[in-house]
Amino acid sequence: MLEVANLAAGYGRLRVLHGVTLSVPAGKIVALLGANGAGKTTLMRAIAGLATIHAGAISIGGQPATRQAPETLVRRGLVLVPQGRLLFADMTVRENLEMGAYTAGRYAAWSRQLSFVESLFPILRERAGQFAALLSGGEQQMLALARALMSSPRYLLLDEPSLGLSPRAFGTILDAVRRINGDGIPVLIAEQNVRRILKLADYGYVLEAGRIALAGQAHELLADDRLRKSYLGAD
Ligand code: ATP
Repeated sequence: MLEVANLAAGYGRLRVLHGVTLSVPAGKIVALLGANGAGKTTLMRAIAGLATIHAGAISIGGQPATRQAPETLVRRGLVLVPQGRLLFADMTVRENLEMGAYTAGRYAAWSRQLSFVESLFPILRERAGQFAALLSGGEQQMLALARALMSSPRYLLLDEPSLGLSPRAFGTILDAVRRINGDGIPVLIAEQNVRRILKLADYGYVLEAGRIALAGQAHELLADDRLRKSYLGAD
């Protein structure tokens, strides 16, 4: 279980989030929705130790995780796949995967995790020796997710994985998320692609101007008038 309680956070003195409370229960997929600038990335970064926490608390597995260094959180199993992927562009696909295992100190599990991520994304085995910069957008997103999985995460945070992807490539990512979650890993996923993510998620939260404006079971949100008007378009 990942829990965020009354969190106020931002960048230096700038406050972006105001009293955000949210939880990602064991084994669940939780969607974080909201327009551009609502604060989704900031919340992801705050949980991962990459933003300034002004007030409130974060815990993972019932243990405090507020204001810890990002690398400490990674070692505790909390891994963020950032928006924009941030791959090592001039390293090969395989080297990027090695870095994922190395950063978290999980070198021992290397070959087991490598087989797992290559079964999720066979293209990464075919392209093992290619520079990351030469992959397509969809393949880069697969590699970013695969690199995160190399650290054997216990909690996975995905920040807008659909960005720049074709519907088909995004579908591949969502299938992988379903399989990862099937192994019991809770996933928090920020998305603007509301409809597709709510079909996958168990629960969703809508952020507006740094506050939770709406929360509920994914199927309830899909049918919610306010959400339909603001984010799903008329149909
Ligand atoms: P998007 O979908 O566009 O990524 P978002 O919901 O993820 O939007 P954030 O990126 O969290 O929103 O941005 C929330 C607010 O924080 C915005 O007003 C933004 O200008 C501000 N902000 C984001 N990053 C920084 C930063 N590094 N320093 C200062 N302010 C920032």
